[in-house]
Amino acid sequence: MSNRLLVLGWHNIDPTPGFPDPPGVGRLGFAKQLRTLRRFANVLSLDDALGRMAAGEPLPPRAVVLTFDDGYRDNLELGVPMLAEHGFPATFFLVPGFLSGTVGAWWEDLSSAFERARAPRLVVAGITHDLSTPASREAAHGAVRAAVKSLDHAGRVAEVARVSEELNPAPASAGEGLFMDWGGAKSLLAAGHEVGSHTVSHAILGRETEAGQLTELSDSRRELESGLGISVDTLAFPNGAAGDYSAVTTRLVSELGYRCAVTTQPGLAGPSGSPYEMRRVILTPTDDLSSVVAKTWRKARSVVGRRVSSLRG
Ligand SMILES: [Zn+2]
Repeated sequence: MSNRLLVLGWHNIDPTPGFPDPPGVGRLGFAKQLRTLRRFANVLSLDDALGRMAAGEPLPPRAVVLTFDDGYRDNLELGVPMLAEHGFPATFFLVPGFLSGTVGAWWEDLSSAFERARAPRLVVAGITHDLSTPASREAAHGAVRAAVKSLDHAGRVAEVARVSEELNPAPASAGEGLFMDWGGAKSLLAAGHEVGSHTVSHAILGRETEAGQLTELSDSRRELESGLGISVDTLAFPNGAAGDYSAVTTRLVSELGYRCAVTTQPGLAGPSGSPYEMRRVILTPTDDLSSVVAKTWRKARSVVGRRVSSLRG
């Protein structure tokens, strides 16, 4: 098992409109997850893991890499000090458009509009959704979320804006943004962490033209490199499930010289899989890490076992 790598991924730590939870449970849960990792895992940086795999060197037993997507501000304010307590390095996949504040996170904007909705109903793709109860609002929200994921980035942004207007949301209270800025990204690096690309605008690459994908992949890297003064050669696919990227995407990623791309498809990564489609287990801070991880290792072992016995047979 020393050539298998478990890549873990988180988004926010504290609750957000898009990922609601009772206040406080996220940070407690994340602290517990880190204590679990300290007990059972050997946490290494993504750079270190990729270097060892490329050189054909073994990984330590129970090797784990920690990653965060999107650049939520609480990653910096809560996550970084908690990681420091354990001496764990992490990689943060950032979106230059979010860092500059020029692009909104569509899922958070949509969730926030639903949270504040005053309209009694909403029409989506010719179907009228009732919004009078929390359950019916959640059903309508789910329908919109699923529908916009099938659009390209421009269409998704336009539809989220249309729906948000139709929802007639109560004014939002002014507060700090959910995402870190360029100064925050520099603080991640100063704390010893790594930064990778998560595209310029969080476009779901598989819905974009080849030219659009190329822009998202190359410009994000260029903007992060010039804004932060580092070299960027790792990537996380936005959304990251099968179909959220394509063979065109993985070819472009390779041609552009990225060392790897991580997905959100669960399982173990390792030298035998494509570096441009690395498996990764996505967690929320309230997940029971030990059972999720045990299941992942067990499943990998049984797949390896089946392969071995079919070779024997
Ligand atoms: Zn993301």
